[in-house]
Amino acid sequence: MANPVTSSEYPSEVYGLVTKLALEVTFRNYWCFLPLTSPDPSLLATIVKDFRPNLTEYEDFYRHVHQNPEVSGLELETSDLVASHLRRLGFDVHINIGGHGVAGVLKNGPGRTILIRAELDALPILEQTDLPYKSTKRMIDRYGNERPVMHACGHDMNMAALLGASALLKSARERWSGTLITLFQPDEEETGGAQAMVDDGLYSKIPIPDIMLGQHVVPLKSGQVAVKSGEVLVAAESIHVRIIGGPCEGSINPQLCVDPIPLSMRIIAELEDFVHQELGHKNDVTVACWGFHAGLPGNDYVAFADFLLDVKTIDPEIRLRALDLVERKIRDDCRAAKTPKDPVFNYSVRAPLTKNDPDVTAQIQAIFSSYFGSDSVPMELTRACEDFSILGAKHDIPYTYWNFGGSATTKGEIATNHSPFFAPQCEPTLQAGTDAMALAILSFLAI
Ligand SMILES: [Zn+2]
Repeated sequence: MANPVTSSEYPSEVYGLVTKLALEVTFRNYWCFLPLTSPDPSLLATIVKDFRPNLTEYEDFYRHVHQNPEVSGLELETSDLVASHLRRLGFDVHINIGGHGVAGVLKNGPGRTILIRAELDALPILEQTDLPYKSTKRMIDRYGNERPVMHACGHDMNMAALLGASALLKSARERWSGTLITLFQPDEEETGGAQAMVDDGLYSKIPIPDIMLGQHVVPLKSGQVAVKSGEVLVAAESIHVRIIGGPCEGSINPQLCVDPIPLSMRIIAELEDFVHQELGHKNDVTVACWGFHAGLPGNDYVAFADFLLDVKTIDPEIRLRALDLVERKIRDDCRAAKTPKDPVFNYSVRAPLTKNDPDVTAQIQAIFSSYFGSDSVPMELTRACEDFSILGAKHDIPYTYWNFGGSATTKGEIATNHSPFFAPQCEPTLQAGTDAMALAILSFLAI
């Protein structure tokens, strides 16, 4: 029988809730507890048009950064560039957070705190475009390998648009009240940077935001924006699998026994269909191999084959079942082939699900529809992953993440993100990205 509650005693869960709320109110801006209000779209459009900076400077920034990319974890020059730009704009700037992370804070009276974010890093890809400002850069990555480098994901454009929007907000500071945090995250491509910034005390240096906003250039038509509520990017798990081949017991001929190369190739070819069959086709999961290595030149004996799998899901329950099925299929096939040892699995979480908050997103969607008209298009779930949501995970910060287009013509006629041909055109891409970000911020802060 539970003890009766007296006026001086509360059940621990009630006490815990009260304490949590008190701490939240103490350490967080109380604005996060207030309901959102609908802003006047025409007022916001006027602010954006009146205070948008001359974007030539930001186009130059984009081309410069495109020509001078830096791989994940080594974004020193890029972070210096964005930090000095934020200082020039009058932001209070913090650097070297979780590596080369940068966060600029612009306090402008009472109101909500909005965090906006872009990524600093490029990819180890040899650029194949014929742009006059194409990258020919090579650098030693953090693993000691010399690699070509390219902004093949468009983070250069994301950064330029974030700086453009920050400059707009600085100029328009009489028209809004609150705090703006402009954050540049390192190491997004290997999805380690957001966690590294949080672990390095991000929120002891800057205020905890009430809302987070992120955007990414994609191969939609240049000038378009796309946003939706709910899931926008998948959760992804990476599995490093080692299949061990070699002689069977009692045999001196390894070729009579298990060659790990054809066995691995057969497993990879069958894996996704197997998972779909077991789960039923309604279940949304992809299993893709994105790396394979086996053997060395000069030695015809192949002891093992290594491959990398990505398992991408939306539903957490399906995620667990899919991972179990992948491991079971590989283990069973190895046993059937009589490999001398069981396969080895090493898991790493690439990124959690990115799921837009319904209330924050509805407000942004309404503003985008009004401002961009037919260029505000439906957003599709992208089967890519992101670590943006990790910035808000501990404090449950609601967020919206949307896409803006960089293609010169229509969807599909530009190479997609991570292609060596990916090259968003400068305008109207940059203006749309700047306006979209500024409108979204102002929708929560305008007065
Ligand atoms: Zn990206």
